[in-house]
Amino acid sequence: MCNIIKKTLVVLTRRKFMKLSLVTSLAVSLPDTLFSLLKNKSMEDKQYFDVIIVGGSYAGLSAAMALGRALKKVLIIDAGKPCNRQTPHSHNFITQDGVAPNEIANLAKQQVLKYETVHFREDSVVTARRKADKFEITTHQQQVLFADKIILATGIKDIMPDIPGFSECWGISVIHCPYCHGYEVRHRKTGILANGETAFEMSKMIRNWTDDLILFTNGRSILTVEQQTKLIDHGIQIVEDEIEEIVHKEGKLQSLALKDGIHLPLDALYARVPFAHHNEVAQQLGCELTEQGYIKTDLMQKTTQSGVFACGDNSTMMRSVASAVYTGSMAGAACNREIIEENF
Ligand SMILES: Cc1cc2nc3c(=O)[nH]c(=O)nc-3n(C[C@H](O)[C@H](O)[C@H](O)COP(=O)(O)OP(=O)(O)OC[C@H]3O[C@@H](n4cnc5c(N)ncnc54)[C@H](O)[C@@H]3O)c2cc1C
Repeated sequence: MCNIIKKTLVVLTRRKFMKLSLVTSLAVSLPDTLFSLLKNKSMEDKQYFDVIIVGGSYAGLSAAMALGRALKKVLIIDAGKPCNRQTPHSHNFITQDGVAPNEIANLAKQQVLKYETVHFREDSVVTARRKADKFEITTHQQQVLFADKIILATGIKDIMPDIPGFSECWGISVIHCPYCHGYEVRHRKTGILANGETAFEMSKMIRNWTDDLILFTNGRSILTVEQQTKLIDHGIQIVEDEIEEIVHKEGKLQSLALKDGIHLPLDALYARVPFAHHNEVAQQLGCELTEQGYIKTDLMQKTTQSGVFACGDNSTMMRSVASAVYTGSMAGAACNREIIEENF
């Protein structure tokens, strides 16, 4: 018995040896062109992915986790500028309440990159286009990459108003969402920077957290008489004077300086600012946008272009870490299902 095993081992070793010698001698005699073909093939493998995810924050990482667990070869390309980077603490995401935004993202990245088919590059996608049955991506660092599917998890870029101090306080004491930061400034002296219908809706909402509320319309109010009466009846003061400056200490609001010289002390200011997409990638791919400017998707996060998915802030006004994680996970699963359907 022992002898048989030994013999088999010897035969296998000899076979292996012959195979190895053949490969080596072939390699030595390979013409240059064949060598460069092989080299190009391995380059291609490095540049080809089942899915490229543009944006590697909560939505992108979440999509990557679903795809990594489905054994897909995935590349996440991330420019490292998540929208909440200035916020000291993130709230209202279960298990991570009060944790710093980058701590949540770092832990997510660590967990996602445990899947050996998932890769991460710090870079920025500049162009994306359909090329035959694939997508071709070019990046800021001059990389040309290919994928069968694309997931856009690019977030959005908030456009700061031209008020000194505003951008320094953004996410610290100038806040966009009561569910994210309202509890921390409950019952405090709070302002709302808005006008018209938005101002009315925001005032109604924010009064849930504090009744020490001033609405700054930053110019003539365009609220209806009924709206103004209702706000005043609920103890909400309306200030029409233009804002000169937000006075703060390291992002912590102290007062609002008005153009007529008055300083009104405040602890927090709610503001909803306009947004833009970080780049033209969705448009280059021909994805339709909604009336509000988000990338149009169905419930499975498919955009209007086949093979292209979108998730996170770029495709919903329900802006939160929880929502980005949910839509990212959905995009990953839907994308994987599409690949399975096409190849089965
Ligand atoms: C100030 C502020 C505070 C917030 N606080 C909270 C909170 O407390 N709780 C909560 O639940 N939510 C909060 N939010 C909302 C939450 O941060 C977002 O909903 C969430 O970050 C969206 O995740 P995302 O992955 O879609 O986008 P983002 O987190 O914005 O990430 C998008 C990523 O894509 C990258 N990217 C964009 N274009 C490209 C490209 N062409 N190539 C490569 N990479 C690209 C960006 O650099 C970025 O890293 C806050 C938002 C703001 C603005």
